[in-house]
Amino acid sequence: MTRPKSEAIFRRAQQVIPGGVNSPVRAYRSVGGNPPFIARGEGAHIYDVDGNEYIDYVGSWGPLLLGHRHPAIVEAVRQALETGTSFGAPTEQEVDLAEAIRDAVPSMEMVRLVNSGTEATMSAIRVARGFTGRDLTVKFEGCYHGHVDSLLVKAGSGLATLGIADTQGVPKGFTDTTLALRFNSVDAVEAAFRAHGDRIASAIVEPVVGNMGCVPPQPGFLEALREITARHGALLILDEVMTGFRVAYGGAQARFGIRPDMTTLGKVIGGGLPIGAYGGRAEIMRCVAPVGPVYQAGTLSGNPLAVAAGRAMLRELKAHPEVYEELETKSAAIAGAAPAGITVNQVGSMFTWFFTDRPVTDWESAKQADTAAACWSKASTCRPRSLRPPSFPRRTVKKISARPGKPHKRHLAHLFTPFSRRRADRVTMAKNTLKLISITASLRPFDR
Ligand code: PLP
Repeated sequence: MTRPKSEAIFRRAQQVIPGGVNSPVRAYRSVGGNPPFIARGEGAHIYDVDGNEYIDYVGSWGPLLLGHRHPAIVEAVRQALETGTSFGAPTEQEVDLAEAIRDAVPSMEMVRLVNSGTEATMSAIRVARGFTGRDLTVKFEGCYHGHVDSLLVKAGSGLATLGIADTQGVPKGFTDTTLALRFNSVDAVEAAFRAHGDRIASAIVEPVVGNMGCVPPQPGFLEALREITARHGALLILDEVMTGFRVAYGGAQARFGIRPDMTTLGKVIGGGLPIGAYGGRAEIMRCVAPVGPVYQAGTLSGNPLAVAAGRAMLRELKAHPEVYEELETKSAAIAGAAPAGITVNQVGSMFTWFFTDRPVTDWESAKQADTAAACWSKASTCRPRSLRPPSFPRRTVKKISARPGKPHKRHLAHLFTPFSRRRADRVTMAKNTLKLISITASLRPFDR
């Protein structure tokens, strides 16, 4: 496979855009190689500017639950275009979307639409501070909540893959308001609240972590977090930017039966257009301007195109609840193809192969698996077509595991509906694991 056009565009891009990309994980830094520049997508496939076809296991990092160019979403956006792209004034469609979100996620009694997941989490922790009159935020190591200043502490996602522990440019005073605890550790939560309980405004958590690979909550962890926050008068914020409408229609909170005080959403609720949302108990949300004293605003918030795409997406998901079972089954078929010695974590259509035979339950254990995964995906990036699956399993894992010092990468796969069961079976049966895991890291070729 050659990519002369992508390479040329990438050279241009690096002159005008830092790293040539508008979000760091797109740059391939952690796995090596240069990114293909994408020309179009259709269903489960994308095509680069050189005409190469890829199976897309990334799904735009989560939003494209129904694949590229789903007809219902394309039609909704087309219709919205006919009436105008932005008004700076409210539209009925925003109310429809807020109602649809509330119907699916009843803990979000009131909802505010924003433009990204980052805006949602940033706003939610501000509202929590305003509501409680306290300053501290509890977060968990390896969780990523967007590039919010105070939450860029021991964060996952691109920071993890680039090895950036704590970003520069954030005043110490901001990060001093954050307590980063071990995910899945009830003891750590108890201790933090014992020490600082009357100063903690909120605890924010990815209920199923996706940003250090897929790490599910252990039984009782979310329940304990719910109980401890309530006991100390702090708010529990479930960051469902990734899990919302993905691990279940009602998100992780429906799947695990947890009712948070506040929730943040993004990704799927925009059907591929930029959107985010935060919401929660009505008494908390009434703190938000113009009703209350906590200011939060946005020129393009509730943008008609994004709202149209989001409404179409939610309508489709509600009309086809079987989507979730289907996605889970397909994901299990692929996740289960992992060779021995690999730990597989899966919740719904989120799954990760960790290159370790130990359970992965938190940031420390997730980090143990990095080196192998990085080498593995790097190898496949360099020689995508020459790697033959049958020679792949254990021997390869051992070999790559022994190479220290490689850049870090965890691999989270997002499956989406156009990915066919036949293909999942074929991948499983062929034990085409090398190609598979490389695709989960980013966009990789897959020969048919
Ligand atoms: N929260 C979680 C759990 C995320 O995974 C992300 C992004 O991946 C964000 C927040 C930030 O969302 P955005 O990239 O839309 O700002």
